Amino acid sequence: MDLSLMNKEQKKAIQTTEGPLLIMAGAGSGKTRVLTHRVAYLLGEKEVPARNILAITFTNKAAREMKDRVGALVSEGAEHMWISTFHSMCVRILRSNINHLGYENSFSILDPTDQKSVVKDILKRRNLDIKQHNPRSIIGFISDKKNQLIRPEESIREAAAYPDTLYSEIYHDYQQILYRNSALDFDDLIMLTIELFDKEPKVLEYYQNRFQYIHVDEYQDTNHAQYRLISQLAAKYRNICVVGDSDQSIYKFRGADITNILNFEDDYPEAVVIKLEQNYRSSKNILDAANAVIENNTERKPKALRTDRDGGPKLKNLVADSERGEAEEVVRNILDLSGKYSYSDMAILYRTNAQSRAIEDTLVKSNIAYKMVGGIKFYDRKEIKDLMSYLKVILNPNDDISFERIVNTPKRGLGPKTVDKLKAHGQNTGISIFEAIKESDFIGIPKTAVVKLMGLVDLLEKLQQKARFITITELVDEVLKTTGYMEMLEAEKTIESRSRIENLEEFKTVTSEFDRDNEISDELLFTFLSDMALVSDQDGVEDDSGVTLMTMHASKGLEFKIVFIVGLEEGIFPSRRVAYDDKELEEERRLMYVALTRAEDQLFLSRANSRMIYGKTEANMQSRFLAEIPETLVEGGDGAVANDFFSSSSGSARKKQAPKRSRVVTNNSGVSFSIGDKVAHKKFGDGIISAIKGEGDSQELDIIFTKVGVKRLLANFAPIEKK
Ligand code: ATP
Ligand code: MG
Repeated sequence: MDLSLMNKEQKKAIQTTEGPLLIMAGAGSGKTRVLTHRVAYLLGEKEVPARNILAITFTNKAAREMKDRVGALVSEGAEHMWISTFHSMCVRILRSNINHLGYENSFSILDPTDQKSVVKDILKRRNLDIKQHNPRSIIGFISDKKNQLIRPEESIREAAAYPDTLYSEIYHDYQQILYRNSALDFDDLIMLTIELFDKEPKVLEYYQNRFQYIHVDEYQDTNHAQYRLISQLAAKYRNICVVGDSDQSIYKFRGADITNILNFEDDYPEAVVIKLEQNYRSSKNILDAANAVIENNTERKPKALRTDRDGGPKLKNLVADSERGEAEEVVRNILDLSGKYSYSDMAILYRTNAQSRAIEDTLVKSNIAYKMVGGIKFYDRKEIKDLMSYLKVILNPNDDISFERIVNTPKRGLGPKTVDKLKAHGQNTGISIFEAIKESDFIGIPKTAVVKLMGLVDLLEKLQQKARFITITELVDEVLKTTGYMEMLEAEKTIESRSRIENLEEFKTVTSEFDRDNEISDELLFTFLSDMALVSDQDGVEDDSGVTLMTMHASKGLEFKIVFIVGLEEGIFPSRRVAYDDKELEEERRLMYVALTRAEDQLFLSRANSRMIYGKTEANMQSRFLAEIPETLVEGGDGAVANDFFSSSSGSARKKQAPKRSRVVTNNSGVSFSIGDKVAHKKFGDGIISAIKGEGDSQELDIIFTKVGVKRLLANFAPIEKK
């Protein structure tokens, strides 16, 4: 194997195959690349059988990429290797062993919407008001506990006060319901694998012997449960290689625990530690900016990171008046660069998904292809969820959560009362709704309903038998046809039903792709459903056309020639929530570091003087992170001006006119308005002036109204007053 392209430390990391190894290094220093080569080295040079190697990546996309790269580096064996995320690894382990814990091996995986309906159900049963007890907070509570490996009983024991006391009880109910449904949420995948290993030492030993060489990428973002799981697996052979960067730990809100990486040497005193200090990704200006920003964090060990690349173009500041204006600025620059770069070289990164809409609109208007990563709610759409629920029930008839979705969809005249009776009977006798139906004659359900229910059971059982012999696409067609679902949509003939049909067609492109890669077998449906359940934040990136839109969180580990970081305003990024909490602020700064270090050639930093977000108009100062970048590295934008634009309406000396754009207009009554003024309109209510267009009498104001959005009004006649 040719290691001549690697630097000295990288080589050492690749060749140190025995014993624990920690690679701690900054962004773009080749950590992931080293991991990939190390795996190839084990296969190719050390002749370690592929089945003895495990590599854990942070996303499915990273797993696929690593598979491809290892495949290109070695002649054979790569396909037998487990390269996967924590979650997919656990699905595979549980698929063969979860029966030891009393679950069905054909378990279902719940998505967040399912989780919510389970929690709502519990609240209802406990006569608790959903408005007072936010299901999202409860789900968050349960997730935290699971990440800490705290079981319901322990949670109840430990809970000292409200709401923990109540939430722990709900956690208990929740876990019971999931168990009865043979359903697992994401956190269960990991927690139950650990429980399985604790309970069945033989199973653990099997996997210890199997995975003699373990690798974990992005180790700084593992949570306690993931840490435990890795410790269990590595305990016997201790060949464990973890790579990470404590400056890129950005998932604390999901339970990530930075001490896992910081304490690695305590856990494995014999560990070899390697630092990589050369960045191969970014031009010098970009790297200098990133280093300057992260140095403001106090809770970190200083770290060297240098590049041999030349300075490259300066970072560019873009300043606009509104979020629309910001999007236009971004698009203008995309078009400027499109001769030299293709759209797929470019990414637009934002703090929250809510910021994407204005950008998407502008991209669509400009005819620029783009793909949005994460935040896609395609799989959350009703018709897709309905179809998935049918598939889940076909695989796991005990899945009441899915069964409830489909029992009367399309309408079969089976009302909520009938379903409630079935559920109550199921709960009393410890059986699923599906099983309860078979006893529906005896539980006071009207004859007509019984006939319909039996018809449904019959239909599902037939589909179940068929499923083993046909592709997923064929199964989907069969479900849509025999259940009457498609017929129902076709009969509706509304715009909405038409778009639902289109979405179902679109779903079939997903299934066709899956069918191309997978052979028909008893495993097919399970594999398909778990793949679908594990669609992650970064999926969609591999589609290689168009500009990429994603949150900064989702961008971790990726790289793009051109990067736009948008919404660099106090209150947006850093987010308002964290502005007064030093620890959280440091986490936010690490996120900025991640975002900055995604760029290879050129970086744009943009913000708007006012923006409409979450239905409100905000006027924010520039982000403190912008100010942390040395001025010599940046050009463009009227930095200092816009910085205190709003506070300067009292006449700050630094206020400047924006180039080529009149910022003040006087109306017929002699009142002057300028961009950023807060105004009240007779009909539209409160707003803020975002732009002034045109000349003389035809001058127009763009005003962002809190209630009705943006309106363009003639300055002379608009019934507005300054506030
Ligand atoms: P991050 O912290 O962002 O995950 P990383 O440390 O994992 O970054 P990689 O993604 O592995 O870094 O590498 C960054 C870029 O540098 C990649 O394009 C990679 O191919 C390139 N690279 C790494 N090492 C070398 C090298 N020795 N020679 C040339 N290019 C390299
Ligand atoms: Mg990486």
